[in-house]
Amino acid sequence: MKERFENRIAIVTGGCRGIGKSIAMKLASEGAFVYALDYVIPSEDEVFSEQPELAARIKCMQADVTNFASVESCVSTIIEESKKIDILVNNAGITRDNLLMRMSEAEWDAVINTNLKGTFICTKIVSRPMMSQRYGRIVNIGSVVGIMGNAGQSNYSASKAGMVGFTKSIARELASRNILVNLIAPGYVRTAMTDKLSEEQRKAFLDNIPLKRVAEPEDIANSVAFLCSDDASYITGQVLNINGGLYL
Ligand code: NDP
Repeated sequence: MKERFENRIAIVTGGCRGIGKSIAMKLASEGAFVYALDYVIPSEDEVFSEQPELAARIKCMQADVTNFASVESCVSTIIEESKKIDILVNNAGITRDNLLMRMSEAEWDAVINTNLKGTFICTKIVSRPMMSQRYGRIVNIGSVVGIMGNAGQSNYSASKAGMVGFTKSIARELASRNILVNLIAPGYVRTAMTDKLSEEQRKAFLDNIPLKRVAEPEDIANSVAFLCSDDASYITGQVLNINGGLYL
């Protein structure tokens, strides 16, 4: 049987860790060749050692999504090697939490630069080959707090809310070239980012989640795969909330 992503070339930013790694593995497990772009890349053995059969379909590359030249250089290497790019998942993201009164300009800038400007840079660079191919699937990883807001995360919430506006605008711009652009807004996902939360914060989150569990990275990866598949070919400019009912 034909795999869903046979002959597809994908880029996943922040693809060596956490949710990005799970997305890279899901796309590779269904036939894609995946470039996992990360700021610091661990050794490949370390990264995908649990499923060595997938490691052959995932290549880690160093890139800083906040740096135009760094992403441009990676993308030109990818085009040289693979001739095309079918899928882009803008997943790289950081938090620098603080209450507004204590938030520094550096904390604000770091989060906006990585999450929002990084998404702009990667999308702008990758959209060019996608436009000439007349095919592309772009999935941006936002957050439930980009929709609900969250005390102590004004920088992060603003970056993720900005990604919603960006997604809808670019979906309109690129639709005529058969490039679909959507955003997934996860709630609380079990990763290194959320391991930092205290027991008290964790409990407070769970109390508000009707499904009474946090998401696993695979819950997000499965929906990314759906949006990149032919089953989603009439879906663009949408926000898909994956949060166990935290925000309805
Ligand atoms: P992690 O911190 O585990 O992974 C983030 C990845 O992004 C890392 O691999 C990191 O690389 C990479 N990254 C950060 N800055 C850059 C940069 N400048 N250039 C390239 N890569 C970079 O986070 P998660 O897996 O938890 O989060 C992934 C995405 O999901 C983020 O966008 C996050 O905002 C979003 N999200 C997460 C939720 C959660 O509960 N975990 C909930 C909602 C949304 P390195 O380690 O090398 O710095």
